[in-house]
Amino acid sequence: MRACALLAVLALAAPASPLAAPEIPPVANLTDGVWLKGDLHLHSRHSKESTNNPVKKIIGFAEANGMDFIDITDHDNHVDGDVAHHTWADPELQSDKVLLLYGAEWTTHRGHGNVFSAKPYDHQRLYDVRDQRDAKILAVKKALGIHLSANHPIGKDNFGFSYDIVDSIEVWNSAVWPKNASAIMIWDDMLKSGRKLTGRGGSDAHHGVPDTPDQATPGSVQATANYVGTPTTWVFARTRTAQGVVDALTNGRVAVSANPAGPRVEFYADLNADGRMDMMMGDNAKPTRRPVHFRIQLSGKAIPADGAYTVTVIKNGDRLGSYPAHGPAPVVEFDDTPAVEGRTYYRVEVQGAPTPYPAVPNSMKLSGDMVGLSNPIFFGFDPNF
Ligand SMILES: [Zn+2]
Ligand SMILES: [Zn+2]
Repeated sequence: MRACALLAVLALAAPASPLAAPEIPPVANLTDGVWLKGDLHLHSRHSKESTNNPVKKIIGFAEANGMDFIDITDHDNHVDGDVAHHTWADPELQSDKVLLLYGAEWTTHRGHGNVFSAKPYDHQRLYDVRDQRDAKILAVKKALGIHLSANHPIGKDNFGFSYDIVDSIEVWNSAVWPKNASAIMIWDDMLKSGRKLTGRGGSDAHHGVPDTPDQATPGSVQATANYVGTPTTWVFARTRTAQGVVDALTNGRVAVSANPAGPRVEFYADLNADGRMDMMMGDNAKPTRRPVHFRIQLSGKAIPADGAYTVTVIKNGDRLGSYPAHGPAPVVEFDDTPAVEGRTYYRVEVQGAPTPYPAVPNSMKLSGDMVGLSNPIFFGFDPNF
């Protein structure tokens, strides 16, 4: 019932209080948009180490499991940068139901990054500057008008470029949760240094689910534990379009869940104690001396009625507090006062029993009790950083 109440409150929400006008105007008001879910890191047969994974299979699976968008990000070095004539030219790359982003995995000696674009762009140019200085790469990225994202920032093929050239970071790679703790640490370091960097997920799945249970090749066994949607990235997009997805990613209106069944983490802030939410994750406001009222809501049709979660709030990289959350539409609220000087950010992690994802049954064993995380709400960040 509280979920309904919150939606009702948001539906009536007025523009942010003039006493605490955000430095960066939100991309839309808090009700002007739609939640969309998808997977931002997938490999098809156009990546050489992929098995049992034609484009048609990926898209069919995404459609069957309620995905709103996907980006098939094949390794560009496997085709000498020419993804336009491989992944993008594949006649199977079409869907009436799922928004298809244009991209590829920028696969370099200094690490990997994913591109997200609503329309075709000249990927060859980005590939050709992969061994050049970061400033040159940044200039090409800007000229192409693409969103560039750091992949798997820790471990093999970790991202070794400056984080100043990317718009987001893959803080949740694949269904295997424990290895992501170090990625989260790097994300916090970047946030603490003033970068308003979006955290997002990506399954990095290379292998298609078996068509029948007896097709248990090594590749397809991996697919029973990690496939489309493990994890799932949610964006609050202004419109249900590919551009809407990319803009929401850039603006940080993003949450990540272990799978599409949720729970989705929504994170809001009321700046002037009028009961109306003025900000959501990704937004940045000028701190005042007033306390801010925060609200966290967990959403998802598949959340069990007896669901029990622990919601942990992280402030500037440190744990501010942990709160229990129960029921089919849990809500947690807390107050805190951001420092009037300097920068402050708050973000949320949610732990609890995983929500079943029958299409990829073994994924739940690997993601442990990490079920979701939010992007930060920011105070005092420099929008021109
Ligand atoms: Zn990679
Ligand atoms: Zn990959």
